[in-house]
Amino acid sequence: VATRQAQFRDVAAQTADGKVLEVAANIAHSVEAKQAFSNGAEAVGLFRTEMLYMDRTSAPDEDELYNIFCQACEAADGKSIIVRTIDIGGDKPVDYLNIPTENNPFLGYRAVRIYPEFIEMFKTQLRAILRASAHGNLKIMIPMISSLEEILWVKDILAEVRQELRKENRPFAEKVPLGIMLEVPSVAFIIDQCCEEIDFFSIGSNDLTQYLMAVDRDNAKVAASYNSLNPAFLRTLDHVVREVHRHGKWIGLCGELGAKGSVLPLLVGLGLDEISMSSPSIAATKERIAKLDSRECRQLLNKAMQCRTIQEVEHVLAQFRMTQT
Ligand code: PEP
Ligand code: MG
Repeated sequence: VATRQAQFRDVAAQTADGKVLEVAANIAHSVEAKQAFSNGAEAVGLFRTEMLYMDRTSAPDEDELYNIFCQACEAADGKSIIVRTIDIGGDKPVDYLNIPTENNPFLGYRAVRIYPEFIEMFKTQLRAILRASAHGNLKIMIPMISSLEEILWVKDILAEVRQELRKENRPFAEKVPLGIMLEVPSVAFIIDQCCEEIDFFSIGSNDLTQYLMAVDRDNAKVAASYNSLNPAFLRTLDHVVREVHRHGKWIGLCGELGAKGSVLPLLVGLGLDEISMSSPSIAATKERIAKLDSRECRQLLNKAMQCRTIQEVEHVLAQFRMTQT
């Protein structure tokens, strides 16, 4: 198996009928980037930066962040890296921010919602990313966006930061794409408006499942309802991918769902531009993609979306698997 997968490590992922689907890595620190690329990642689809802020007594300063992002660029050797700005607060507490404990942390004060209060911390991160963009192919992605106002606000801040860097004569790439996590269901209904303001989307299937189904992703009591094979969830995914493509923009997926081999035919059927996952799953995913036919996957997805229950979807998937061997 290891040698078979090794042959997929260094080639771009595509289906048996030639449909290209980028397979990227989720990382949490620049030191993981090297490993991800040697595992066959074609890009970094999600650099979760919150780890850089946790388990310490103050936020990292601009130079520390800049060096980390530069290291990641070096490992990427021109491949693209989507840096997600800090997704902290709520369930990912950071002591030095002194955010009071909340009853509903997943519905509370987290991610983009805390940026106005911690504006210097946010700007410092943007400055570091922009400065590092002079050394690689970086993209900026904002977590937990739920409205256009938040996007417009972020764009204003980004423009301010660019202006400051220009004044200081600090180099940065002129065109650093801006994207958002698609993980709050409200965004699914304003994709046309979002597409006028941003460059790309990445589906956060972990949170999108939780918010669409109103099931806590960490609560064992409701775990049975936390299932991405729910037809309502599949229809949501299909809707958002279609809408984003209709407006000529790019859309990937970076939740845990991306590494689930059994669900992969559905993800291929969606026509995503990229799937991002933890790097040990990359070679096996590329190998699986190479065996799939994108048109068959599309038919499968259509069938799954017509199912009435999760069980029916599972049955349709199992039938599909039988035809593949
Ligand atoms: C997600 O919500 O699917 C996601 C990738 O973000 P996180 O798991 O960090 O919330
Ligand atoms: Mg999320």
